This record gives sequence, C-alpha cells and structure tokens, in this order.
Amino acid sequence: MEESVKILLPESELPTHWYNLNADLGALGVELPPVLHPGTKQPVGPADLAPLFPEALIAQEVSTERYIEIPEPVRDIYRLWRPTPLFRARRWEKALDTPARIYYKYEGVSPTGSHKPNTAVPQVYYNAQEGVRRITTETGAGQWGSALSFACQVFGLECKVYMVRVSYEQKPYRRVLMQAWGAAVVPSPSTETEAGRRVLAEDPDSTGSLGIAISEAVEEAATRNDTKYALGSVLNHVLLHQTVIGQEVIRQLERAGADWPDVIVGCVGGGSNFAGFAFPFLAERVRSGRTTRIVAVEPTAAPSLTRGVYAYDFGDTARLTPLVKMYTLGHDFIPAPIHAGGLRYHGMSPQVSALYAAGLIEARSVPQNPMFAAALSFARSEGIVPAPEAGHAVWGAMQEALAAREAGEARTIVFNLCGHGHFDLSAYEAYLAGKLEDYEYPEEAVRKSLEALPQID
Ligand SMILES: *Cc1c(COP(=O)(O)O)cnc(C)c1O
Repeated sequence: MEESVKILLPESELPTHWYNLNADLGALGVELPPVLHPGTKQPVGPADLAPLFPEALIAQEVSTERYIEIPEPVRDIYRLWRPTPLFRARRWEKALDTPARIYYKYEGVSPTGSHKPNTAVPQVYYNAQEGVRRITTETGAGQWGSALSFACQVFGLECKVYMVRVSYEQKPYRRVLMQAWGAAVVPSPSTETEAGRRVLAEDPDSTGSLGIAISEAVEEAATRNDTKYALGSVLNHVLLHQTVIGQEVIRQLERAGADWPDVIVGCVGGGSNFAGFAFPFLAERVRSGRTTRIVAVEPTAAPSLTRGVYAYDFGDTARLTPLVKMYTLGHDFIPAPIHAGGLRYHGMSPQVSALYAAGLIEARSVPQNPMFAAALSFARSEGIVPAPEAGHAVWGAMQEALAAREAGEARTIVFNLCGHGHFDLSAYEAYLAGKLEDYEYPEEAVRKSLEALPQID
C-alpha cells in the first residue's frame, strides 16, 4: 500500500503537556546564562518582571520541570486547528528528482495562518486567570498582532496593538484581521505614550520601528494596573508553548512508519517556531539517544546566528528590556526591508543561542531571491504558498534534498512550514516581476553595531 500523503493525528492525540528544554540542558551539556537587569546588571528576579507578565508565565520562564501540563481550556482552543497535518512531499520529491523522503509539518491551518496562536492562546489564558483585563503588544507585519487579537477575543480580554506605522499604512490586510477580532490597532509612534510622543516631537513623520512599538506597548503595560504585555517569540515560555509542534511531528512520523529523520529544518527569527519543532527531538536525544541533525535557516539580511556574536545585549532598540545572552547583531541593527518581516530581528532566543554555541544545532543563511525560488518550486508541487519566513525552511530542506541526490542516499528530511503566504502576495508579485533585491548585511555595519553592545564584566 502507498504510504499516505497526509498524516493526521486524531484530536485524542493532541499533546497534553508542553516540553521544557530547561529540564534537559544539563544532560545536553548546555549552559543558559542568567537574564540581567539593564540597570544593576544583576540577575533579574520574578519581581522585576511582574509589572509586565502574569505570575504563571514568569514561573514557566524559569521552570525546570520537564513536562508542563497544558490547561484544558487552552487545549479546547487548540482543538480548533490542532493537531495540524504532517505531509509527505511526494510530488516535490519527484520534481527535485531526489531519493530523499521529505515531510513537512503545516502550521498554516491555524486561524491566523501561522504557528503564533500556539503561544498567544495560553498567554492570554494565564493573564485572564490572574484577572488581567487588557493586553498590549507590538507588531510589525501583523502576524503576532493578529494571533494575540484572536486569543484575546477568545478569552474576552481587550487587546491593544502598536503597529509599526509603515506597515499600518502599507499592509492593511493584517490590520483589518486584527480589527475583525476586536483589537484596537494604533500606528506607532503614537501620541498615546511618552515614548511615542518623544519620537514624534523629534520626527513628526517617523515611519516607526519595532523597537519604538515595543517601547510604547511596554510603557502602557507598566503604567496601568489592569494591563500586561505579551511577546510573540524569543522568551523561554513562548518557545515552551510551541513544543506541541515537534511532539505531534514525532507521533506522526511513528504513525507513518517513517525512519527517524536524518535532518530537520526550520526558519529562525526570534526562534520560536524552530524551537517548538526541534526541542522535542532534543528530548528524544536525551531520552533514547536517537540523534538527528537540526538546521536553522535565517536571511542573509538579518544573520544573527551566522554573522552575529554570542554576547549580552538588549532585546530592543530603546534599551528598555533586560539583558540576555544571545547571538546578536547589536540592538541598533537596522535590517534591510526584506519581505520575511518575521525574521528581521537583531537577536535570537537565549535557548536557541545556547544550543548553537554548544554545537547542537547548525545554521545557514539565504538571500531572498533563492528563497522565493525554493518557495515557488515547493508551491508548484505541493500547492501551498509558503509565508516568506517559512520559505527559508523550504529552501533549507531543498538544499538537503539536493545533497541527498548528490550522495544518492534516501535520507529522511522533515521541515516546519510555519505559515502560509496569503497576506504576502505583494512580496511574491515583486519576486515574479524580478524586482527583489538580495541584501547581504555589510561587514562594516555588523562591526559598528557590535561596538555598541553593553559591557558586562
Ligand atoms: C513570526 C513568524 C516567524 C518568526 O518568528 P519565530 O519566533 O522565529 O518563529 C516565522 N514564520 C512565521 C510564519 C511567522 O509569523
């Protein structure tokens, strides 16, 4: 019998727990340096984070418990789209003329079209449990803002999204999606916060940046008792919530009778979809000794793993956040305007950074033209048009498939297709018209930005 193309899990096999990598860091020989207070440069405690996050999430941030139970009301919402399908990419394998077996996990079936609701839903749930009425956040292109808007609607909280002004004006569809789910969307910089007013006083025509939007959302949460803040990537608890992805993949591969993967591939911005997909494979390495190569793919325009340094840095341009040790290009790094908006971040999650420093994962980078070429090769065989971010994982999987052809080996490759590109068609339009530029972040700019790193002794 032909193996299925679509490998589905019944709802009864929805994971009941999230997997916490922190429990296995010792066994993996990985050290995670503490998060430091930006003023005192001492390790931050729960009290430092309390104005911004609910207690349950702060506890998860530092937990060393291996499995953390997913609350039933969260599982109830997950069931609207989870378990997500795993596909065998038979038609793409043929098109690439590779002996490799390629599988992809598809997170684009969520209401917002990406993996982001996997964490938005539990984050809002824990806030609601602790009596929080409003949540603020920032968004660039709108993937995170729309996930949080959806989750706030589900649990009856108000949602306020500071959207980078240039995206607010140029990318109306995700703004409308957020408004459809009842969120208040404000172009940033705005006159609603001290941080926004300061920027506008200097530059009334400012088009905004993610750093400014973070400052506005954080300020509002810190100065209002009924309001907290939510972040869509980077932090440990965010990566934790995404581990439903990899746990499902492992069960689906078993169900399909597939070989243990030789290599798994994901794209990295702040690291959350990659972590959610890959960390359960590291758990398996600790539990049963089964290993697999793990490859992270990033854009050459924002190459934090492949060109950055492993150092303490701020999470934002305004230097408001705690200091975390991570692969960074420097907090004042300004990425070129590539279309994979979700991958334009100067840093990388501390957990993913620590794994990379320890040699447990690999990293590659790709410019946007070859990335879109790979994404279209995939779309023309498999039908799904990948989000430009997810296109980086597609490109990485394609390189592995071509290497397998070269070696004449039937390797098993699995990648995470973390979102669809239906709101990114203007990027495809530009690619198809031959109008996309490839950006290599200049060595000089990297050096300059790294000179501004904070000094930690
Ligand atoms: C936000 C986003 C990313 C980047 O974030 P990570 O935390 O690195 O996963 C990647 N892909 C999609 C589709 C996104 O929406």
